[in-house]
Amino acid sequence: MVLYGRLVTSTTAESPSTQLRFDVRDPATGAVVGRYPVHTEVDVAAAVARAREAGTWWAALGFAERARRLDRWRAEVTRGRDDLARIMRQEMGKPLSDAKLEIAMALEHLKWAARNAERVLGPKSVHASLLTINQSCRVEYRPYGVVGVIGPWNYPVFTPLGSISFALAAGNAVVFKPSEYTPGVGAWLAEAFARAVPESPVVQVITGDGATGAALCRSGVGKIGFTGSTATGKRVMAACAETLTPVLMECGGKDALVVDADADLAAAADAALWGGMSNAGQTCLGVERIYVHTDVYDEFLGRLVDLAREVHAGRGAAKIGPITMPKQLDVIRRHLEDAVLRGARVLLGGPDAIEGQFVQPTILADVPEDAAAVVEETFGPTLTVARVADMDEAVARVNASVYGLGATVFARRDGRAIADRIESGGVSINAFVAHATIPTLPLGGVRESGFGRVHGPDGLREFAYAKSTTRQLFSSPLALTTFTRSARVDAVVDRLVSVLHGRSG
Ligand code: NDP
Repeated sequence: MVLYGRLVTSTTAESPSTQLRFDVRDPATGAVVGRYPVHTEVDVAAAVARAREAGTWWAALGFAERARRLDRWRAEVTRGRDDLARIMRQEMGKPLSDAKLEIAMALEHLKWAARNAERVLGPKSVHASLLTINQSCRVEYRPYGVVGVIGPWNYPVFTPLGSISFALAAGNAVVFKPSEYTPGVGAWLAEAFARAVPESPVVQVITGDGATGAALCRSGVGKIGFTGSTATGKRVMAACAETLTPVLMECGGKDALVVDADADLAAAADAALWGGMSNAGQTCLGVERIYVHTDVYDEFLGRLVDLAREVHAGRGAAKIGPITMPKQLDVIRRHLEDAVLRGARVLLGGPDAIEGQFVQPTILADVPEDAAAVVEETFGPTLTVARVADMDEAVARVNASVYGLGATVFARRDGRAIADRIESGGVSINAFVAHATIPTLPLGGVRESGFGRVHGPDGLREFAYAKSTTRQLFSSPLALTTFTRSARVDAVVDRLVSVLHGRSG
């Protein structure tokens, strides 16, 4: 298979069973930038079979050896990051500097996973109870063998690596199905891994569309790490249910930013702009809704619109790239037109700001709370800004969403108290998505944003199962699990139960 002029054989599933190929296009120009095989169920099964063998070898290396190899992979990615960033830009359109920032963040998590896997997952002695005092107890976290990772295109390095790095550090082999919009990014990552770990195909990439992903769900892998939309997540869960394959669900969001009366308005406006418009608004944790205390509403809005006027979507050095998926333009247009029809004020941009594959920054006020632009994931560089009487109203509106991925709070005095009342997988106070970038903090959602966690200790445990082992040290004077248990033992246990559990407080 030819990829950017190079021959790729070792890391993508080899010798696809059909000749079917799909083109990848640069969303900014429409030019074809890659062609990849549509891997079939047969190819997926073969990749998983290879991964099973590779996974056995990888698990047997142990934590320290794996960490050394993951460090080598990290160095490969670091050295090749200009190349990788260029492919990211070609395939999904984000500015080069944003692509490099994304890679930098992913490397932080990869390093953390490699360094901390043994501490989090390694065997630990735990205490027995009074009734089982004769047992020595141990818990450890064992790899599933093969983890299937299904990734989105919007952060084609950061999001899949959130699963891949942690699955590898836990001792699994990985079969990765990147989005059909960013297969070259996936293939590049697997190639870099193969250079760092040439011994065995521990990371393989399969390419194709949803059907290839569905085949991975049904392939008998130990776990699926899915990142993508909530609608697809439901289909993935249904497919995994057939084989009782466990799933990690990192799904969509409709994140809000809240501005209290005493907030640093300059910082809040800057964060709102970046949170809403960077990556052309195609960010799972992106700010899509803003709720501002009435006392500072006008000033905040003025600052935000002034800042947004300086940012443009376009080719070349523009800070905002194209919308990656052509069909997303229809969603953005529908949300904007519906909002305007329902009385929204357009402060910047609006339906006319959709120019070909580019959408100029758009800021709307007075959008009804049940409008699609407030309720559904828009995934464009658009913000709705609403006035609230106080932070009770802000929190109620934030929590009214079916989603619960992240949130941002700008407040001086009550930031923590407001954050505590927000129902989401994470909240960053006085900064945008800081919690997603810190390796020790788990990342994930609640409700329709999904379940399970990537990053941090929870992210490592996500790709391993708990295994408990006991060893009997001596025969218990209270032999409980035997048909020879005597009436005397029953009486002693009965008295003990009264003492241990019969008193409250
Ligand atoms: P999609 O849900 O369209 O696709 C996600 C992945 O699933 C792709 O690789 C896709 O393949 C694959 N897929 C599609 N259909 C199936 C199927 N039936 N079975 C198995 N796999 C399938 O999401 P997008 O790629 O458009 O990504 C954007 C979405 O991801 C947004 O909703 C965003 O909020 C969310 N997201 C969530 C994050 C989080 O951390 N919670 C992080 C980043 C994004 P193909 O592309 O080939 O169709």
